[in-house]
Amino acid sequence: MEIIFLGTSSAIPTNHRNHSAIAMKAFGEIMLFDCGEGTQRQMTRARLSPMKIDKIFLTHFHGDHILGLPGMIQSMAFRGRTEPLDIYGPPGLYQLVDYMKNFGYFSLSFEIVVHELSEGNVLENEEYVIRCCKTEHSVLNFAYSIEEKRNPKFIKEKALALGVKPGPAYGKLQSGLPVKVGGKIITPDQVLGEKRTGRKIVYSGDTMACVQMIKFSNESDILIHESTFNNSHRDNAYETGHSTAAMAADIAEKSDVKKLILTHISTRYKDTKILEREAMEIFENSCVAEDMMRVKVEQHEP
Ligand SMILES: [Zn+2]
Ligand SMILES: [Zn+2]
Repeated sequence: MEIIFLGTSSAIPTNHRNHSAIAMKAFGEIMLFDCGEGTQRQMTRARLSPMKIDKIFLTHFHGDHILGLPGMIQSMAFRGRTEPLDIYGPPGLYQLVDYMKNFGYFSLSFEIVVHELSEGNVLENEEYVIRCCKTEHSVLNFAYSIEEKRNPKFIKEKALALGVKPGPAYGKLQSGLPVKVGGKIITPDQVLGEKRTGRKIVYSGDTMACVQMIKFSNESDILIHESTFNNSHRDNAYETGHSTAAMAADIAEKSDVKKLILTHISTRYKDTKILEREAMEIFENSCVAEDMMRVKVEQHEP
């Protein structure tokens, strides 16, 4: 599992920071969270092909999070994409995508599957579950969590002791189904170890520090939280529905996360050490994201 920061600025880009976008390589897929202007070029810089994006998740419809989408859709069409593209986001997404499909002269060569979300589960399969949570911004914003599912460890010795021979029965038991061996029913709990937790990543999008983010981020490996300002601009944060580094760190501390990564940085901070120090005073394992920064998230032990 790898997180690639493609854009870490707030409303206006700088020489070093592009508009918001985060790619996640996981479960054999590339997922994109937000798609600010210039994201496709940032992907090229990061050696990621936009053609390989499976799903795009939008936190909200402010321009700095979505204006890269029409260009990216058109490039995908020019390059002859045929696989469908799933786009997830707040209500209003149908209209937005419809507008983008008719923006400029091009022919769409693939299907765009739109998912307008309400709070809760976004999608779930055998490997992971993605959820969203409403936060407090000047417009409707969804934070997203990606949680890996893990089966308990299969204990071969226990299976052998119960007379279950290696083969398809092992797979069945591991996936939670009972098997019949010599007239006896063997259930998964007889051969499986304790429940194992998977990795969890949370991305806030744009938001003021809010209580719902504490529960939503609970025990995540990585919390990516916006930090547009530092404490000396806390009034600006309240007025515009954004957070300071201290506010983000407070959320990280209360939700017992392993690591906090600050993003969505205002252009006023040429040196972001001020934000990092402010966060670290409250939550030590904090850092400020940079464009092209890559973060690997290792599998939990055992
Ligand atoms: Zn923004
Ligand atoms: Zn915004």
